[in-house]
Amino acid sequence: ATPTSIMVGTGRAAELGVLFRRGDALQALQGVRVVALDKTGTLTAGRPEVTALIPAPGLTRPEVLTLTAAVEAKSEHPIAGAILRAAEREGLTLPEISIFESHTGLGVSAMVDNRRVLVGAERFLTGEGVDVAPLRADADRIARDGRTPLWVAIDGAVAAAIGVDDPIKPSTPAAIRALHDLDLQVAMITGDAATTARAVAGRLGIDHIVAEVMPVGKVDALKALRADHGAIAFVGDGINDAPALAEADVGIAIGTGTDIAIEAADVVLMSGELDAVVRALSISRATMRNIR
Ligand code: ADP
Ligand code: MG
Repeated sequence: ATPTSIMVGTGRAAELGVLFRRGDALQALQGVRVVALDKTGTLTAGRPEVTALIPAPGLTRPEVLTLTAAVEAKSEHPIAGAILRAAEREGLTLPEISIFESHTGLGVSAMVDNRRVLVGAERFLTGEGVDVAPLRADADRIARDGRTPLWVAIDGAVAAAIGVDDPIKPSTPAAIRALHDLDLQVAMITGDAATTARAVAGRLGIDHIVAEVMPVGKVDALKALRADHGAIAFVGDGINDAPALAEADVGIAIGTGTDIAIEAADVVLMSGELDAVVRALSISRATMRNIR
């Protein structure tokens, strides 16, 4: 590859909102066979809202939402924002909490009014010995709709299923079609529930789904996809995406994402939209074709 054509390609990409942090990423991109995408904040807008709350028998919505929001007030996860906005809309006053713990990729827990409250994924609650059967059907309905099902437990008993909706970015469907037109396979890697991931991936025609993974699990998922299909580009935005961005043959961070993701990436997209990924791939192919 001539340094001049790489410079021209990188410059053209920058004009189109794609910053190459590493010169060889332009070359590496053209060998990519699979584009793997984080779901939350990458395929979706990353601004979730609570759209359902089903309390367990004997509990009321304000009661459950108050305890849940009190715990989430200490979390920086986008899901926490959704819960807090819901509590605010309903005019709830949040009590003080103690012994807050954030369990990365699982959920949060704390003591509220002498009660131990857990909020998070199903695998978090079941791992803590909570029987989720009473609200299983409600959570399944939420997930089949493509929404994230969150679980709340109070003192070891399931207390609510909450549906959190994070709409797909308007530009995502066309970007995925364009990746397919470039003969690439598209994968989704997410910490979210498998049923939710399948519903969202189905709408978008995504080829491979890896769900319910912890942040380090995203790295294992990339290695498995690479072994089966070839070089991988991974696109992500969160702190939990940093290991996968570093592992991928080409790590692509959304510029509106976290600094930690940007630091770990080879390529940074100036906008939050995935059509920039398509532009990056096209420029890479055009540049490399000129070189040969
Ligand atoms: P993603 O890959 O979707 O960005 P994360 O690794 O951040 O996922 O989280 C995975 C799952 O863990 C979420 O879908 C949610 O069920 C649960 N979770 C994580 N943090 C929280 C939180 N603060 N409150 C409730 N649930 C959480
Ligand atoms: Mg994300």
